[in-house]
Amino acid sequence: MRITMKRKLSNQFLRNFLVIFLLTILATVLAFVLLSFTSELIADSLLKNRYPASAIIKEDYRQIDASAVVQNGGGVQVVDKGYRVVYSSGLDTIGKDKLTAEEFTTFLTESKSKPYHYDILYQPKGEFWLIVTFPTSIRLDFSLVHNKEAAAGDFLRASSAITFVALSYLLLIAFFAFIYSRVTAVSITVPLRKLCDGTRLLREGDYSARVDLRLKNEFAELQNTFNDMAARIEQEISLRQKSEEDRRRLILDISHDLKNPMSSIQGYAELLLQKSGLTEQERAEYLKIIINNGKRANRLLTELFELSRMDSPEFSLKVVRTDICEYIRQICGELVPQLEREGFKYEFEIPEVSIMALVDTERFSRIIQNLANNAMRYNPPGTLVTISLTVQNRQAVLEFSDDGIGIPTHLANDIFKPFVRVDDSRNSQTGGSGLGLSIAKKIAEAHGGDLILCQNENKGSTFRLTIPAI
Ligand code: ADP
Repeated sequence: MRITMKRKLSNQFLRNFLVIFLLTILATVLAFVLLSFTSELIADSLLKNRYPASAIIKEDYRQIDASAVVQNGGGVQVVDKGYRVVYSSGLDTIGKDKLTAEEFTTFLTESKSKPYHYDILYQPKGEFWLIVTFPTSIRLDFSLVHNKEAAAGDFLRASSAITFVALSYLLLIAFFAFIYSRVTAVSITVPLRKLCDGTRLLREGDYSARVDLRLKNEFAELQNTFNDMAARIEQEISLRQKSEEDRRRLILDISHDLKNPMSSIQGYAELLLQKSGLTEQERAEYLKIIINNGKRANRLLTELFELSRMDSPEFSLKVVRTDICEYIRQICGELVPQLEREGFKYEFEIPEVSIMALVDTERFSRIIQNLANNAMRYNPPGTLVTISLTVQNRQAVLEFSDDGIGIPTHLANDIFKPFVRVDDSRNSQTGGSGLGLSIAKKIAEAHGGDLILCQNENKGSTFRLTIPAI
């Protein structure tokens, strides 16, 4: 297919160029015809034809009136039979008073090739030559002379020479047209082929395919569009693959995390039902296990529900204009008893100013509650929890830090993904679902802000929560 495309284009170009070359010859011939026609038209008005030698010649050269010729920029010379210039007026291209027989013959034979027009007339009675000279304006000598009386052999030789030249000329034109069409076709077929190759690779699923033509013409434009398109498809595909991968992992994580509490509930409920002679204490213990696992499954499902609700298009916040300093101060106040009960130290730095923001107070407090719960759940008592609030670039920035065990830096981004936990085996036992930070980040984003984990050089972990101030 590639070869046929190339051939077709090359042949097309060859045809086009041949036609163009032949038309050029035709146009040249026409131009010559036109030239001879126009020169016929202007011939009568040219000085050399207005003042020919025959018009002024007299039997006695002394009676010749050269004034009109001289006035019009020409010249008149009379050469006698002894080759002496006996009379000269105006333009003189002989430049001598006396010529030898050879010099005069040379003058006569070469007069055609000089940039002057010579009209030479011999006066037999006066025995002199009259030479009327005018400077040539422009002269183009091109004429085909033919005489039927010429010898047949000469005629054959001359006509075969002309035929040979004409054929060579046509062959040369055909050859040039061929070379030129190939060169021109290559400048189109090569980039076209590269673009076709790229498109084919793309069709076959190689989304990393790009085209590099090293050109600056329209093909370069096409190349850029193609490369942009390929880059976009590649991006879309990788996004789709990633979200597909995320979805698969989410389902796997959900089923994995629900499986343990559900089988526990089933197992202990069956024990209660089937095992006879259980002591009151054993019964209470089993029931407690069932309740705890039920709570765990319930919490997991509630959080999952919350997470997917926030992803749905109908989700919207119930925001109210709130003084964020006042609001955070209030939440910190509510955290104090919990922190003290768990044996944690705390420090709050909330400025005594008012910073207004649009906040869904109920949801926003869940972020801080979640960060506090995590700090208390994953760190030993005695850990210092710090909450500070500042305003930077029209953003309220809340930093929530602890000097506890910290989160590995390689998990800085992943920790906000559902079900991601630092120590999976340990945390699934402690009851963490791995959904808290995902929900918190989504709430922050829904407010037009963000929740990130800062790279912490000191001990512990620092979360930065931002929300636009108004
Ligand atoms: P979980 O429900 O498991 O707490 P989160 O999304 O809230 O889920 O937290 C994800 C994981 O991040 C936790 O399982 C824990 O390993 C880690 N983590 C969160 N906060 C802290 C913290 N302050 N200190 C140490 N580890 C933490």
